[in-house]
Amino acid sequence: MCNKYDWRVFVLRLGHRSERDKRITTHVLLVARAFGAHGAFYSGQRDEKVEASIRKVVESWGGPFSIEYVENWVKKIKEWKRNGGVVIHLTMYGLPLNEVIQEIRKSEKDKLIVVGGEKVPRIVYELSDWNVSITSQPHSEVGALSVFLHELYMGRELKKEFENAKIKVIPEAKGKKIIKIS
Ligand code: SAM
Repeated sequence: MCNKYDWRVFVLRLGHRSERDKRITTHVLLVARAFGAHGAFYSGQRDEKVEASIRKVVESWGGPFSIEYVENWVKKIKEWKRNGGVVIHLTMYGLPLNEVIQEIRKSEKDKLIVVGGEKVPRIVYELSDWNVSITSQPHSEVGALSVFLHELYMGRELKKEFENAKIKVIPEAKGKKIIKIS
């Protein structure tokens, strides 16, 4: 498994808008799961279709991976910290990934990775233990999250085995092979 560490990783996706962000929020959540996070929270508008599509993926492709809507994300961040976790906010304005990733990896606390949408309120920068940039160029929450998790786990997430999977891919050079498990 990618997590030889004792800490757990959750993602908080801010400011979901049901119409405009359906695909991108789904992609954030799929990347979170595939790249080794244990679960995710999202705020903004509640979207049961997004939740259902992620739960369906977990049902077929395995987990564990939880998805939970949070109305009050400031409360969630504060609660996370009160419970001993650290908060990492991904933003183009933050410190370069290479300068802080070792320190983050070494912290033996559960990690909440915050990614934004349109505009991220100032309080997120203040509440976060680290504001981290994946280049100082504007791009996307999906790109930022995948690179961050890849560096956090030092590539181990690429070999992650998922529990209770009903199906899995058998990698092939050219084919598309999926097998049913049990
Ligand atoms: N101006 C925003 C910012 O603070 O990074 C860009 C908004 S972008 C549409 C949505 C989200 O993608 C951001 O809130 C951030 O989490 C992530 N993101 C975009 N570019 C990033 C970068 N270079 N480094 C880290 N995260 C980034």
